[in-house]
Amino acid sequence: MSPTQSGPTEREARKVAEAARESEWTKPSFGKELFLGRLRLELVDPWPSNSPDQIAAGEAFLARLRPFVESIDGAAIERDAFIPDDVFAGLAELGAFGMKLPTSYGGVGLSHLYYCKALTLAGSANASVGTLLSAHQSIGVPQPVKMFGTEAQKQKYLPRVAAGEVSAFLLTEPDVGSDPARLGTSATPVEGGYLLNGVKLWATNGTVSTLLVVMARVPKSEERRGGITAFVVEADSPGITVESRNAFMGLRGIENSVTRFHDVFVPDADVLGGEGRGLKIALTTLNTGRLSLPAMCVASAKWCVHVARGWAAERVQWGRPVGRHEAMSTKISFITSTTYALEAMVDLCCLLADDDANDIRIEAALLKLYASEMAWKIADELVQVRGGRGFETADSQRARGERGLEAEQVLRDLRIMRIFEGSTEIMHLLIAREAVDAHLAVAGDIIDPEASRDDKLKAVAKAGAFYAGWLPTLVAGKGAVPTSFADFGRLAAQVRFVERTTRKLARSIFYGMGRWQGAMERKQAFLGRVVDIGAELFAMTAACVRAKTEQATHPEGVELADLFCQQARVRIGALFTALWDNTDDADDVAAKQALAGRYAFVEAGIVLPSDQGPWVTPVEPGPSTKPDVRRHVPRASG
Ligand SMILES: Cc1cc2nc3c(=O)[nH]c(=O)nc-3n(C[C@H](O)[C@H](O)[C@H](O)COP(=O)(O)OP(=O)(O)OC[C@H]3O[C@@H](n4cnc5c(N)ncnc54)[C@H](O)[C@@H]3O)c2cc1C
Repeated sequence: MSPTQSGPTEREARKVAEAARESEWTKPSFGKELFLGRLRLELVDPWPSNSPDQIAAGEAFLARLRPFVESIDGAAIERDAFIPDDVFAGLAELGAFGMKLPTSYGGVGLSHLYYCKALTLAGSANASVGTLLSAHQSIGVPQPVKMFGTEAQKQKYLPRVAAGEVSAFLLTEPDVGSDPARLGTSATPVEGGYLLNGVKLWATNGTVSTLLVVMARVPKSEERRGGITAFVVEADSPGITVESRNAFMGLRGIENSVTRFHDVFVPDADVLGGEGRGLKIALTTLNTGRLSLPAMCVASAKWCVHVARGWAAERVQWGRPVGRHEAMSTKISFITSTTYALEAMVDLCCLLADDDANDIRIEAALLKLYASEMAWKIADELVQVRGGRGFETADSQRARGERGLEAEQVLRDLRIMRIFEGSTEIMHLLIAREAVDAHLAVAGDIIDPEASRDDKLKAVAKAGAFYAGWLPTLVAGKGAVPTSFADFGRLAAQVRFVERTTRKLARSIFYGMGRWQGAMERKQAFLGRVVDIGAELFAMTAACVRAKTEQATHPEGVELADLFCQQARVRIGALFTALWDNTDDADDVAAKQALAGRYAFVEAGIVLPSDQGPWVTPVEPGPSTKPDVRRHVPRASG
């Protein structure tokens, strides 16, 4: 068996994911209720707001950040694949590496809303700059130490990162991507601490960081709980080698590493949150950490709106501005309305996170999924609107004497958003797990192949009682009453649609459950569509409530929200149809045959890749045999 095929079974992988999952729901969740068929509008309407102090601090920070961001040469970062030292220094001086940290630890103390606005602004200079800040703050040292660190750890590390030291988060390995059950980096207990051994792949900021959060496995023993554990590690500890800096189709400026650990000593005091808590820490950190990437998607989407507007009005073909040809106007309309909705979703999720009254884990996950997918579509449509110039680099346009606009770069930079911090497929599974949780909880033993007959019978009775109470609530609701949600004015019909469709969605999940029972968790295409419908409904809600709230200052927002909802309804209709009318089963059979080589003849007629190296690098333990390529960014003075 090849190294990629050995390792934990699917069942074990699920167990690891399940153990890391937070199963408690102590606060209300708009997202969870949505999948149960209940539109809990009162959780998001009235639109939440930051306190006057948060707003004052946030606006003051943005006012300081803006001139610096304007001074960043984003084109040079793209050209040189390098963020210059003075950008690090300038950001450090502004406090941008401690935006979300409390002022008591030297941070700026921004709310989630203003942190995300700052990321949107910084990401608009160059997406690699936004990614540097986001990887450092959302998954690197600041957030997990703030949430799970002891007071001693906070005192030790937070002032350092707030002052400008950069950090990284190291989970991925050559053999570990979406499946942490395969994690191979070990943490062997020794006197006073642990010895780390292993190789970590694709750590953003890994080549420039002075502090690392490293996930490693402590072996289980009689005295130890063991398991995947998070450590805060000094990046210059003996035994750490940065073996290479990786390069990608986009985000060319990021400092992304392969990092080897060979007998790296980490003291007991640097275990974060306790042994075996590593994945829970990673997942909990991501609950709010997932707001960052969408904030950067918004930056790109806004840029696309701007370029589409200017170009499509100016460029004339066939006697009209290209934006006045219907095939183009549908794209411009989509780009503009979707950007409006994306910003509404990001702001809403941030505000919900700030007032801390709601559990936002589903909303944040829906947002990450939806924003990364939609921003990609927006940028792709912009490339089309720009025609040949959409495919041409900005430098090439400038060299011809034209305005240099990097549409192709925006598209490339956005592509990874659908893969890292939870790929679209993994987000689908994660959200679907929560969406069907109520069903699994009541029907657990019915569908568990290992449950006894007696347990199954008991579960049938329990499920019967649950569904007898729940199903009737899905039949009627405010969405069927033509006068309801009148306070939304022109948008009332859209909100009624959301309410009706929320119930329809829950009924569909129930039908799916009845049809596939225990096998439902394997119906990934079905579950993916269910989640996508939920994401559209959340987006519609955010857009409508935002537009209603800002009606006095931005009456035109109502037009955009209405337009977005009309477009979303078309997508939702197609998704519902595809729930039951699709090629999923045929695709599954075909993929099996394709993997077995049956259709390899289709590949004839081209030159096939000559590289016959391993698909996945096997990790050889031991000291590094490569030079250390770490980049030492000078620390800001003062
Ligand atoms: C530019 C960049 C920056 C990164 N930064 C970091 C970082 O800072 N720290 C860090 O630890 N990691 C980082 N990563 C790693 C990133 O998080 C992973 O690439 C991501 O988790 C996906 O893992 P993978 O690439 O190994 O894909 P794989 O897990 O090999 O998956 C391959 C494909 O299969 C799908 N798939 C996998 N499992 C399932 C399943 N159960 N059901 C359905 N589909 C499935 C995936 O969605 C994907 O489409 C970075 C990666 C890149 C490229």
